[in-house]
Amino acid sequence: MNPIAVEICDTCGRAQLTGGYACRSCGGTALCSKPVAGDCVVTAVTKVDRSPIESPVGTVPFYLAMVTLDATPEVRVMAVCAEAVEIGQPMTVTSSDGLAPYRLEALSCKRDT
Ligand SMILES: [Zn+2]
Repeated sequence: MNPIAVEICDTCGRAQLTGGYACRSCGGTALCSKPVAGDCVVTAVTKVDRSPIESPVGTVPFYLAMVTLDATPEVRVMAVCAEAVEIGQPMTVTSSDGLAPYRLEALSCKRDT
């Protein structure tokens, strides 16, 4: 598992991506870092036919997708994928270095059972 780091607010329990100074829901500043699984569902997708910058996945076209994490549905992540994805499609998001910090991968077979 390549976990996604989220922060959990000690005051209201809401999760958000790391890097915030305060909770986006209640403004509380007591945030606790927690790794969660990258299992997610695509909620929006855009096909990028021409990229003004180098493609973050090495090919054009590529896809930008908004996903919600299964473990913390209030957390939305913008991720890139070289393969076409569809809204509602279950995927796995991983974190990486470089131009695009989040990448989408096809979900392993474990969820189908
Ligand atoms: Zn909060």
